[in-house]
Amino acid sequence: MASPRKILILGGTTEASALARLVAGDARLDAVLSLAGRTRAPVLPPVPHRIGGFGGIDGLAGYLRRHAIEVVVDATHPFAAQMTRHAITACAAAGVALLRLDRPAWRAGAGDDWTEVSDMTEAAGTLGPLPRRVLLTIGQRDLAAFADAPWHDYLVRSVDLPDSASLPPSARFIAARGPFDEADERRLLRDERIAVIVTKNSGGSATQAKLAAARALGVPVVMVARPPTPEVATVADADAAHAWLLRGL
Ligand code: NAP
Repeated sequence: MASPRKILILGGTTEASALARLVAGDARLDAVLSLAGRTRAPVLPPVPHRIGGFGGIDGLAGYLRRHAIEVVVDATHPFAAQMTRHAITACAAAGVALLRLDRPAWRAGAGDDWTEVSDMTEAAGTLGPLPRRVLLTIGQRDLAAFADAPWHDYLVRSVDLPDSASLPPSARFIAARGPFDEADERRLLRDERIAVIVTKNSGGSATQAKLAAARALGVPVVMVARPPTPEVATVADADAAHAWLLRGL
């Protein structure tokens, strides 16, 4: 039997972990999962892993050469735009194939009250001049823009609590990791009397329940759009990525 194809999965998403679990049981593939190290207690699938940045484009290209990687799967979060750019340039430099695993963006449907904005500064501005109770589900970075609108009452939910929030001192924090359930999300919105949710268009099912809860309760959503989609071969889920990795074997 030929030696297994060497894969590097750039992770940090549910889909990357799902792909890692699929390839873990496949003798035709030899995969390493790479995590940035942002989450204090990451959930690790049963494949070899490495944690931490590569040291920019040159560092990643060097890693690919040293480890004789044949295919990179960029399964990073849709908002991890720098890592995606680095993967494109480093793969081209090292002559390594690249596949993007990108879950589809959420789309507003009937009954949704969304304001779509292009970045966090615009999101903060959209909240308006009068104090509102705001649920921020944008992760622990990118909070600084909301310090410029300190008259709102913020509830911040992220996997880890921010180390030093640049938010107003009145902001409160909940550490929680998806998947979230719609009934629980409705309860949170009601109990906290949330008037508006600010979120990024991450896509995927794990954190979608808040959007259904917002629709049911008539709570408006400020939706931050994704950065531009890179022009690389792209699949939408872990099964399709697994099939792509097996091509020609
Ligand atoms: P980013 O801004 O695009 O990347 C910043 C730097 O972090 C990269 O240049 C790279 O450092 C390192 N990095 C990012 N992803 C990496 C990975 N999978 N393995 C090794 N190094 C990585 O990324 P980010 O937005 O901070 O996201 C960091 C991680 O969190 C990613 O794994 C992403 O999938 C996950 N995540 C991000 C978000 C989000 O909203 N941004 C949400 C959920 C999960 P070097 O230049 O030194 O190589």
